[in-house]
Amino acid sequence: MTKPRVLIVGAGFAGYHAAKSLARIARGRAEIVLLNPTDYFLYLPLLPEVAAGVLEPTRISVPLSATLPDVRVVIGEADRIDLDGRRVGYQQPDNGAGELTYDRLVLAVGSVNKLLPIPGVTEHAHGFRGLPEALYLHDHIVRQIELAEVAEDPAEREARCTFVVVGAGYTGTEVAAHGQLFTDELATQHPRLGLRPRWMLIDVADRVLPELDPRMSETARRVLDGRGVEVCLGMSVKQATGDGVRLSDGRSVPTRSLVWCVGVRPDPLVDGLGLRTEKGRLLVDEFLGVPGRPEVFACGDAAAVPDLTRPGKITPMTAQHAERQGKLVAHNIAASFGQGRCRPYRHHDLGFVVDLGGRDAAANPLHVPLAGLPAKAVTRGYHLFAMPGNRARVGADWLLDATTRRPGVQLGLVPANDVPLENAAPEMPVRAR
Ligand SMILES: Cc1cc2nc3c(=O)[nH]c(=O)nc-3n(C[C@H](O)[C@H](O)[C@H](O)COP(=O)(O)OP(=O)(O)OC[C@H]3O[C@@H](n4cnc5c(N)ncnc54)[C@H](O)[C@@H]3O)c2cc1C
Repeated sequence: MTKPRVLIVGAGFAGYHAAKSLARIARGRAEIVLLNPTDYFLYLPLLPEVAAGVLEPTRISVPLSATLPDVRVVIGEADRIDLDGRRVGYQQPDNGAGELTYDRLVLAVGSVNKLLPIPGVTEHAHGFRGLPEALYLHDHIVRQIELAEVAEDPAEREARCTFVVVGAGYTGTEVAAHGQLFTDELATQHPRLGLRPRWMLIDVADRVLPELDPRMSETARRVLDGRGVEVCLGMSVKQATGDGVRLSDGRSVPTRSLVWCVGVRPDPLVDGLGLRTEKGRLLVDEFLGVPGRPEVFACGDAAAVPDLTRPGKITPMTAQHAERQGKLVAHNIAASFGQGRCRPYRHHDLGFVVDLGGRDAAANPLHVPLAGLPAKAVTRGYHLFAMPGNRARVGADWLLDATTRRPGVQLGLVPANDVPLENAAPEMPVRAR
């Protein structure tokens, strides 16, 4: 008798944990196939530390095959889904194509950069969604400092030493906080630079970390102010050019570095399915099933999951929710085959951690606000606990960073053309991630 096949599309927080849990629950009674463009699970919350040179990129890339031995991993990017025929077509990295049939489908394709119609942003800003962007940003920062050091023109020197981050959510705040420490360190390695690199963090909101506990916002603001990061709230970018940005308060800021962290939107793959969506996320019931399609489930950023702890709302796009939804989807798929009973998704937020670099962090485990070293210990402990692999290597990098100087070199492995902001645009059939 052939085993039923469960196809999971996307190996992020939701898909990875769905596959892992299902392998444990099914014990060989189902074939579990995981389709993902890369052969690793990317631990996104530590991406800013890769850009800042604290962590090597492979540390946050957990190999799929090695950590999911009972799962068949297929490398490819889904580009068409035939719901009636129960088939998913995909592009392979070498431009080949393949197709997979399924008995149960889990859509866990996550989210992509959110684009806003601001002149020049698509051409001149860089997003921050994956390893290529983090590696590019790392090299770009080093390159700007090196070019500034030899620039004859003081205006060019100043522009190259100005870094503008748009979006003061957890991603933008961490990028700016880690970035300022990184460029301070680079400045000590380039004594002829002659000026302190300037970082600006811009948001339309009235506080940093607007989506989190206000006490965490206060902690982050205190740390950023103490480091000299210019926090500009209640404003946005009106226009971007190759030489700088114009802000909504009328100021022009000469810069060669615009990092776009204004948030994310669901992956465009879900748009084309003809299924109901909410804010672009695939509408599911509290059991994570797609209404009218009992064999299709969705979870994580790509899914609009009713938040039973906040009636009328959907769960926010966080790793915590994605991971727990992935685990529950595994349980409910097993139930759909007659093993156990379906359970609704109900999860109370356990708090959040934001690493601000150096000895600083803002955390609220179980809603107890922490700052300074206690927050840092909780933040790092949480990440080590939450990572599905590579823990010793991450710990070793943190130790090295605390005791040695960061190597300020650019390897130039990711050219700017490979990480355009518009790589999230729906019309692009295959996206470089
Ligand atoms: C820089 C950064 C920092 C963050 N920090 C935090 C944090 O500190 N705390 C927190 O809670 N959240 C954080 N988040 C948000 C959190 O990472 C997301 O909410 C979480 O990753 C969502 O999990 P997911 O599985 O839905 O999507 P993802 O983790 O994004 O995974 C989606 C997967 O699907 C794959 N995929 C996409 N399209 C296709 C396709 N067509 N075919 C096959 N596979 C596909 C992707 O390559 C990826 O592997 C951060 C996000 C970013 C970008």
